[in-house]
Amino acid sequence: MITRFAPSPTGPLHLGHAYSAILAHDLARASGGQFLLRIEDIDQTRARGQWEDQIYEDLEWLGVRWDGPVVRQSERVTTYRGVLSQLLAKGLIYPCDCSRKDIAAAASAPQEGAPLLGPDGVIYPGTCATKPVDPELEPNQAYRLRIAAAFEYLGKEKLEFVETGQGPNGHTGPVSITKADMIRSVGDVVLARRDMGTSYHLSVVLDDAAQEITHVTRGADLFDATQIHVLLQHVMGVPTPIYHHHKLIRDEQGKRLAKRDDARAISKFRDDGYSPKDIRKRVGLMS
Ligand code: GLU
Repeated sequence: MITRFAPSPTGPLHLGHAYSAILAHDLARASGGQFLLRIEDIDQTRARGQWEDQIYEDLEWLGVRWDGPVVRQSERVTTYRGVLSQLLAKGLIYPCDCSRKDIAAAASAPQEGAPLLGPDGVIYPGTCATKPVDPELEPNQAYRLRIAAAFEYLGKEKLEFVETGQGPNGHTGPVSITKADMIRSVGDVVLARRDMGTSYHLSVVLDDAAQEITHVTRGADLFDATQIHVLLQHVMGVPTPIYHHHKLIRDEQGKRLAKRDDARAISKFRDDGYSPKDIRKRVGLMS
């Protein structure tokens, strides 16, 4: 078993991250496998070296030791761009110049009713899908995945993955993904952002494959994005790992923790005299 923890260095790690990291670490250790660390720093406008250093410090303090070298997404941009060029040559992505405002306006046109939301927000109404496409991958240009074309390229109407944890609505076991559902409830998602040259979806799939992750352990908030990842894995011809989505750690009011919840930062607990054991107890990994 190979698991991973893949934080973005855009703020302090909080209890939710501690839970995710310890769970993935313990699963790997219990099976005699490996636990890997990846720094998801493609968003260079928000990533900070200071937060990256804090991640290493927090994990060491928690007793979470990773195997092998740390993978940093900012060092893999050439790989991401190479794959985008291939997808463009296959006609599976197209450039998109729509702003958020354009999308919201097109998606809520009177005849359309209220805009539908997918894993990435408002479902793209397809405005740029029929425009002519330049075969060269352009810098500073957003590209979207043609969901329908991706299924047609695979010659499939349906894909599947195995969930050993739980999605937000209790989904577990084999989860099926259909072309019709993805067209309706996901839409043509962005695979390369104009400002990043890549996207979370593209990078996470290529990195999990490159690091040969067998079990992806992460929060249930990413369950809905998994169908996009599985579709991409098939298109790119890489294996689909087993997914284990876990509960989200909430504050005393039942609200999900976010990066801005500095009050629950691991470093704050440490400064306040808590031990790593106290953290394990607080997130329910120890009684
Ligand atoms: N980088 C993501 C985050 O910090 C996690 C991505 C993943 O585990 O797939 O929320």
